[in-house]
Amino acid sequence: MDCPRCMDPMIVLELKRVEIDYCPECGGIWLDEGELEMLLEDSDEKNSVLQSLIVAGDVKEEVRRCPVCSKSMEKVLCGKGEKKILIDRCKKMHGLWFDKGELDDVLRMGSIDKKGLTVNLLKDMFSKTI
Ligand SMILES: [Zn+2]
Ligand SMILES: [Zn+2]
Repeated sequence: MDCPRCMDPMIVLELKRVEIDYCPECGGIWLDEGELEMLLEDSDEKNSVLQSLIVAGDVKEEVRRCPVCSKSMEKVLCGKGEKKILIDRCKKMHGLWFDKGELDDVLRMGSIDKKGLTVNLLKDMFSKTI
C-alpha cells in the first residue's frame, strides 16, 4: 500500500497483534477499518473516543486519497473538549489516516492507554525502523 501523502510504499508493523501500515518517509500511519478499535484499551474512554469522531466542516488541510480505493478522504475530528485531532477517513470506511504523531495523540486522549504501553511500543518500533 502506498502512503496517501508521499505516495511511497508503506511498511507493515505489528502493534499489539494489529498490523499497521507505516510510512517511514513522513511518519504517517494507516489503520484499516476496525484497527483503531483493536488498539484502544477496552474502557469507557475507548467508546467515547470512537463516538467522538465527527466530520469536520471547512478544513484547509490538503485532501488525501485513500490508499485502498484512491478516492478522496474526508476530514474527521477525534476527541472531546479543547483538544481535537484532525484525521482523514475513507468515505467507504476502508480506514483512517493519521499524520505523524496523530495516532499517538489519539491513544493518549482521555487517559486511554494509561500506562502508555502503546505509545512506548510505537516509539520503540519507530526508533528501530528510522
Ligand atoms: Zn508518507
Ligand atoms: Zn477507500
